[in-house]
Amino acid sequence: MEDAVSDAVTPPPILVAIDGPAGSGKSSVSRAAAKRLGFGILDTGAAYRSLAWAALQTGVDLDDPEAVVALLGSWRYSSTLLGEQRIGVVLPEGGECATHDVTAAIRDHAVSGQVSRVSRHPQVRDRLNAMFREIVAESGLPGVVIEGRDITTVVAPDAPVRILMTASPEVRARRRAAELEGLSHEQVLADIAARDAKDALVVDFITPSAGVALVDTSELDFEQSVRAVVDIVTAAPAAAEEGVR
Ligand code: C5P
Repeated sequence: MEDAVSDAVTPPPILVAIDGPAGSGKSSVSRAAAKRLGFGILDTGAAYRSLAWAALQTGVDLDDPEAVVALLGSWRYSSTLLGEQRIGVVLPEGGECATHDVTAAIRDHAVSGQVSRVSRHPQVRDRLNAMFREIVAESGLPGVVIEGRDITTVVAPDAPVRILMTASPEVRARRRAAELEGLSHEQVLADIAARDAKDALVVDFITPSAGVALVDTSELDFEQSVRAVVDIVTAAPAAAEEGVR
């Protein structure tokens, strides 16, 4: 009886799982689609980046899985799922806990170049995946778009909407170069290729698994890409039942 009451108060959010490589448009398109749908957005790459940032900050060896897992025990991650996205990290410092707003710092070239070193440890991934599921379950939101590399396959393989977003390497490099000041197209292309190669050793974010919708944004502009995602979500039976438009 009690269960029936609590279920009625907080139905679990509709999950929209989106994977894809760097520069596919995944982050900005997911954010805009979530806003249009009235859903929250969980950027899982930001959590991996925050962990890499915290490890670099505290002198933890990024290649040592046990040291990174130990850091996770004392580290706290916070992310705004609705509205302006702010990413915070709480670290113990001299017996106190200090909160750092890392929203800008985690996009830095220095972090992008190191993040694959922490994301390649299976123990670290298991811990973060449990954290992602908890954040979503406790969100109290009607829906959450959760984006990353292994969301459709590992984090939320049962999500009612699963999308793999891709774009050609050239298009991806062009988009990323436009976001990053001071780096040439060639540098960005090389950085993306190097990061994809390292990440691809751990998760497959290039081939859609069964039941995953493929959205190739190479020939789509931003608005068309957002529309493509929103259309897939609104056409899904789970979203139709909840009256999502
Ligand atoms: O999506 P973004 O480029 O911000 O991700 C940063 C890094 O975090 C990736 O290069 C990858 O190493 C890691 N990542 C991951 N699994 C996810 C999301 C991100 O391994 N679900």
